[in-house]
Amino acid sequence: MHAQSVSDEYDYVVSIRREIHRHPELGFEEERTAKLIERELARLGISAKRLVGTGVVGVIEGKLPGSVAGLRADMDALPVVERSGLPFASEIPGKMHACGHDAHVAMLLGAARRLMSRRDTLHGSVVLLFQPAEEGPGGAEPMIAAGALEQPHVDAVAMLHVDARFPAGTIGLIPGPVSAACDELYVTIEGKGGHGAAPHLAVDTIPAAAATVLALQNIAARETDPLRSVVLTIGTIEGGYRNNVIADSVHLTGTLRSHDATIRGGLEERVQRIVSGVAVAYGTRARVEIRYGYPPVVNHAGLARWFTPRLASLPGVEVVLSEPTMGGEDFAYFAQARPGLMMRLGVRNEAEGMVHSAHSPEFRLDEAALPYGIAALEQFARSVGEHGVPEDAG
Ligand SMILES: [Zn+2]
Ligand SMILES: [Zn+2]
Repeated sequence: MHAQSVSDEYDYVVSIRREIHRHPELGFEEERTAKLIERELARLGISAKRLVGTGVVGVIEGKLPGSVAGLRADMDALPVVERSGLPFASEIPGKMHACGHDAHVAMLLGAARRLMSRRDTLHGSVVLLFQPAEEGPGGAEPMIAAGALEQPHVDAVAMLHVDARFPAGTIGLIPGPVSAACDELYVTIEGKGGHGAAPHLAVDTIPAAAATVLALQNIAARETDPLRSVVLTIGTIEGGYRNNVIADSVHLTGTLRSHDATIRGGLEERVQRIVSGVAVAYGTRARVEIRYGYPPVVNHAGLARWFTPRLASLPGVEVVLSEPTMGGEDFAYFAQARPGLMMRLGVRNEAEGMVHSAHSPEFRLDEAALPYGIAALEQFARSVGEHGVPEDAG
């Protein structure tokens, strides 16, 4: 990498990022963002096509023979009311780029610009994957089904996600699980309503719900290997009519998070057993529904180990072994389809108060991090293009 040429990209990427930041769009509504991407790719002379509505796929062909790298950026914003105080804050009420996907798109365009300008030394091809709807309902799976990784056939794929835990210049990369499986839990408990003064004539669902919530915590506390992560959070409890009426039904909703496929596979049976057992004990009836969401992102171990020193060789970049999180990320489907890497790009700046985590209405990121992200994406594309996926990557 040449520090000077990277700084040339800085103004370009910052202006693109701010333009997108002002106009956030939710999942599968990213029409304006898609048009901006198409406009910029056309300016760079990169052919592009739409997939699944607002997804955009561009291809850069190097002048030298080699393998094909995929680089993925998600495009969508969140239904959050922005309180960042930035001069380029959201102009769309109730929508905000609070997860940094504006920066992801801008960095991928920056990387595309650099790769195009130095195509003479580029081996293989680079597929630029601009993906809608990461925050839901999920754009990765339909894009892959629509052939995003097939024309040309992508050999390995990478992405960056901004991360407020680390300062600019720090990039997190680990082998193995990086994000969690995100599954939704719905429980309905039914009993018999009645007068609050005559509980013996009713079947009260409120104590049954309380016992259910507590008993479910046993899955994480007592039933799971403490060295393997699982989270069961009940997010809502709804039921009842007023203070002196016994509630005839209660609805619980929650989220189930896990990294390990075996643990994930066993959760439904455990939840079912505990919920039905508590229902028997309290004389209620209960139903459980689990809706399966994104699988965990699992970084390809061999590829991660192979790429780490190449990443660390970039000027100003420090690579850290970032802890996995229990957050979700639909890049998981790309990483299932091909050897994949999800990297964490530090964007924290304590002095500027850029310390809020993603999804916060006050989230701001240090734009000084963007050139490092561009360099990392370019390095991945060039490394895979020239050397392919390492033989022992397993
Ligand atoms: Zn997010
Ligand atoms: Zn995100």
